[in-house]
Amino acid sequence: MSESTTQKITIVPVPQSNIDSVDFNNLAFGSTFTDYMLWCDFKEGKWQEPVIKPYEPFLLDPSAKVFHYGQAIFEGMKAYKDEQDDVWLFRPDQNFERFNHSAVRMAMPEVPEEIFMGGLKQLVNLERDWVKKGLGNSLYVRPFMIAVGSGVIAAPSSQYRFMIILSPAKSYYSGEVKVIIAEHYSRAANGGIGAAKAAGNYSAQFYPTKLANEKGFQQIIWTDDATHTKLEEAGTMNVFFRINDALYTAPTSERILDGVTRKSLIALAEKMGIEVNIQPVLVSELIEAAKNGSLKEVFGSGTAAVVNPIIGFSYQDDYYELPKIENSMALLLKEKLVHIQYNQAEDPFDWTVKV
Ligand SMILES: *Cc1c(COP(=O)(O)O)cnc(C)c1O
Repeated sequence: MSESTTQKITIVPVPQSNIDSVDFNNLAFGSTFTDYMLWCDFKEGKWQEPVIKPYEPFLLDPSAKVFHYGQAIFEGMKAYKDEQDDVWLFRPDQNFERFNHSAVRMAMPEVPEEIFMGGLKQLVNLERDWVKKGLGNSLYVRPFMIAVGSGVIAAPSSQYRFMIILSPAKSYYSGEVKVIIAEHYSRAANGGIGAAKAAGNYSAQFYPTKLANEKGFQQIIWTDDATHTKLEEAGTMNVFFRINDALYTAPTSERILDGVTRKSLIALAEKMGIEVNIQPVLVSELIEAAKNGSLKEVFGSGTAAVVNPIIGFSYQDDYYELPKIENSMALLLKEKLVHIQYNQAEDPFDWTVKV
């Protein structure tokens, strides 16, 4: 890290920590927050001094642009604690870069490295007691930015707020996941904002996902918007297919988010000698592989669950169940990645960053 990223940020202290009131064995994902948050405003064309202060609600003008035009972006990453009580971030540089790509796409100002990375490290360091040891325990980190300038005029705001909040998490298990392959709805379109972690991408998924839930499916596998013939993402995760002993995943594009977990799994798999094909995967190929028995696994990848195995999928009213297999590639890759994240295995890629 350069000198500039280690600049000290002012801390407004909390009267008393909440940590003793938290049951770390019973945490619903994303609903408990730590004592502090990072806060930094952008106004008059420049970023102001960041501050770390008590986690609490704040007031916004009812005409603030975030409420009307959805100028809002976020990131998701995790901090892990090893057996020596050291705290680690996993590839935070990737989240920083992606955050600023999202900012550019949404006509928002980019956040300087010393505010994003410097703020991230100081906040996580301050809250290190909230990161519990043991595989599965982590501190979920949520950087985000919203347009706080007022005025119901559809134009970019001149004022923004960048914040980081932290939420302790247990390992994320979403149960057995069955998915529907999208034939009508789309998550993203060419020329759209699918490659950005922009808030509106997620609310746009809620309704089709609700329809899928009503039919007994947990998620949707999104297909390309123009033809609905290519398999692109699973819910809010990237998606991998294992056919015989090779993995397949779509190349990133304007419609597909460039997941840090996705690219880390690809690198790990290749290092392990597993064949990885980064190419468009057709619905017809998936159906054929399911029918002839060469389809072994389908799984989503993302920060929250790392790997999320899918047990079956439906397409045009037919349901295809995946075989129960002994040597799951998904679980093997997950284990390898998790061990690097928790500093329990060598990190040949230099991915982890000590806080
Ligand atoms: C965040 C996200 C992912 C996963 O990205 P990670 O960096 O691996 O957490 C995949 N798809 C979508 C749509 C996402 O928003």
